[in-house]
Amino acid sequence: MPNPKRQHSRSRRDKRRTHWKLRLAALGACSHCAKPIIPHRVCPFCGYYKGKPVVDLTAKTQRIQEKKEAKAKAVAQNA
Ligand SMILES: [Zn+2]
Repeated sequence: MPNPKRQHSRSRRDKRRTHWKLRLAALGACSHCAKPIIPHRVCPFCGYYKGKPVVDLTAKTQRIQEKKEAKAKAVAQNA
């Protein structure tokens, strides 16, 4: 198996690593609420896709609220 003959210097290693960087995600604007969103995804803020409502976010927030209340109830019963 081929092996490196010599250890690379710190400088050489770091020069290689200068290309490791994060890029800012390409964001589009929601056509309904104009918030920045990932393209080709349902808007997480209003649940719209291509100008039409796809996800009912009011139902989702209601479910979360019900879960929170149930948890608070359970904590109160145990205390
Ligand atoms: Zn939106």
